[in-house]
Amino acid sequence: MSNKLNTVTTATLKNRGLHAARVLSSGLMSLACAFFIMSCSQHDEEAAKVSDHSQEPKKEKIVVYSARKEHLIKDVFDAFTSETGIEIEYITDKAQPLMVRLAAEGERTPADVFIAVDAGNLWQAVQQDLLKPVSSATLEARVPGHLRDPEGRWFGLSRRARTIVYSTERMNPAELSTYEALADAPFQGRLCLRTSKKVYNQSLVATLAARSGTETAEHIVKGWVKNLATDVFSNDTAVIKAIIAGQCDVGVVNTYYFGALLKEDPNIPVALYWANQSTSGTHINISGGGVTKHSSNTEHAVQLLEWLVSDKAQESFAWVNQEYPVVPSVPPSELVQSWGEFKADQVNISIAGEYQAEAIKIMDRAGYR
Ligand code: FE
Repeated sequence: MSNKLNTVTTATLKNRGLHAARVLSSGLMSLACAFFIMSCSQHDEEAAKVSDHSQEPKKEKIVVYSARKEHLIKDVFDAFTSETGIEIEYITDKAQPLMVRLAAEGERTPADVFIAVDAGNLWQAVQQDLLKPVSSATLEARVPGHLRDPEGRWFGLSRRARTIVYSTERMNPAELSTYEALADAPFQGRLCLRTSKKVYNQSLVATLAARSGTETAEHIVKGWVKNLATDVFSNDTAVIKAIIAGQCDVGVVNTYYFGALLKEDPNIPVALYWANQSTSGTHINISGGGVTKHSSNTEHAVQLLEWLVSDKAQESFAWVNQEYPVVPSVPPSELVQSWGEFKADQVNISIAGEYQAEAIKIMDRAGYR
């Protein structure tokens, strides 16, 4: 069954001339193929016959499945193609449907590279055996050891800091210190959080659990829930807007969402606070990528990942979204630099995956919705 689906998906990819159409339809395709595997495989068997890429000559093209959105990758991919002559076909979708698709396509997948945000998602891809280990002196030298899989199945491509944001009108930063302290009494009725369903918060709680143990982490998360000013939000931007609107005084977000709002209005009455500076350091996560287990073009797949950590690509890959380059010698954008330097958590971010199930249970028991 999975073979049929794989070839159909491959054929469908090939039959769609327009890249844009493929991007637009990828969500529907993934859902359709994930949940209606039988019908997906039945209605297009003819097309499937043309797509057995095991018999094709080696392609000067690679296929990327990206959970990083199109506007964040397109220009970088175009630059790679113009520099190397290697074309990139890509689809974008959320990480979960892309992983379902990779698993269903199995060894007939057209995908060579999988790009995702959050180490929790990349760890899941490894658990599902969707990525292959690669060794690359360039990747090992350029990507710090704690921001890549120790076995070379994924590598960080940009760093993202998840830290505290506060109202400059109603909060004195001297009141702030750590993620853990947001569970304490002074923050009662003042805290806004994004939903626990988002992997970013699962990864944050995973690092808390790894650092302090399940019991302590649960105690902290219960404190957060007790201190909530209002119901949880569906995204980080809404958390910052709630602080601006006066619904709450403090929250926890990825800094690039703050950066995006600052670009719209540099005078918003919100500021960043670097959490845990005298303890573990601010929580760092990544966007990253790996070579798919069944890539038919590992060489060029690795070449793309290596190219993405070059100085030039790092600037565009990180700057376009106000993230931090993963390569320490490459500076962040001017706006990001204006937020100052901070001590980052140095823990290997693969623990975000290892403790993910534990984190979800902790948040569930704590009543964090
Ligand atoms: Fe995000």
